[in-house]
Amino acid sequence: MILYLDDRNYKENIDRAAGVITDGGLVAFPTETVYGLGANALSADAVSRIFTAKGRPQDNPIIVHVNGMTMAEQIAVFTDKAKDLADAFWPGPLSLVMEATGLPSVVTAGLATVGVRMPDCDAALSLISAAGVPIAAPSANKSGAPSPTLAAHVQSDLGDKILVLDAGESSIGVESTVIDMTSSPPTILRPGAVTQQMIEQIIGKVDHAQAFEAAEELKPASPGMKYRHYAPKAAVTVIEGNHISVAESIKYLYDKDIKAGDKPLVMASRENKKYYGPRDLVITGSIHSPEQAAKVLYSLLRDADEKGYTSIYFEALPRVGIGFAVMNRIYKAAAYNIVKV
Ligand code: AMP
Ligand code: MG
Repeated sequence: MILYLDDRNYKENIDRAAGVITDGGLVAFPTETVYGLGANALSADAVSRIFTAKGRPQDNPIIVHVNGMTMAEQIAVFTDKAKDLADAFWPGPLSLVMEATGLPSVVTAGLATVGVRMPDCDAALSLISAAGVPIAAPSANKSGAPSPTLAAHVQSDLGDKILVLDAGESSIGVESTVIDMTSSPPTILRPGAVTQQMIEQIIGKVDHAQAFEAAEELKPASPGMKYRHYAPKAAVTVIEGNHISVAESIKYLYDKDIKAGDKPLVMASRENKKYYGPRDLVITGSIHSPEQAAKVLYSLLRDADEKGYTSIYFEALPRVGIGFAVMNRIYKAAAYNIVKV
């Protein structure tokens, strides 16, 4: 069931959702990154329900959402550098992996560490405060599917029984940056809106786990990195190179699919749209605005499935700013099916 958060019933709906959390149930809620599927992080039974609802592998730990430093320090041990990053980026799209204290092991998938984040979203912070407990929440999609950026995405993946707080579209659209603060130097495990450069300005040199290599070629730095992720039903191919060659290559692949009776779709920048003529196309945004691409990426992938497209050809974007995270996600959605031209 979707509860829309407008001014009139904001407090009533937050309190109702908080009651579900304190009773051990699940609530899907908005954040600035994507919608989360939340449970009381202090209750092993409640958190177990998340794994069942999502079909999530048991060895993939869940990020815990807090409303501030006091709550964060009850579940994790902050180093000085972790404190500096929280000071600089919280509330915001940065999850800090730190030594865990007092959490059931189902949250951390048996690890000694926990990922913690304070979201920059009034509805999420109000929910955590009203429940009075930290909320464990992965993205509110079926495991493997693109993350939800709208309440309707959550409902289409998890059904009508889940309570969904609806505050409209997530403003960022890709998941938080995850950084392991227990390694030296700290290591970015998942890229997001808070970039390596932004982090290094605060705490100096950090490492970055491989963001563009297939998992089978690597030992995953984080349990979640070994799973197929963010993927629509359509077969995704990413095409990289100079924009003229990319367009030529996509047109060739597209026309081949049409002849084979498939239903292809182009995902291209506004600037390159002109190359594709009458072919089915959606725009990922301006080549100069990776923020736009981040915001629409998962909606576009889901819409393509709804419309019955069988293949998607995605023009690579510059790996600048949040464009780095967008390309990391589309590589995974494409199962590393990359054409370099
Ligand atoms: P999700 O919440 O499903 O979008 O994904 C959370 C990501 O953070 C996954 O890739 C997890 O494996 C990763 N993560 C969460 N907690 C930890 C932790 N304690 N250590 C390493 N990675 C973590
Ligand atoms: Mg997820």
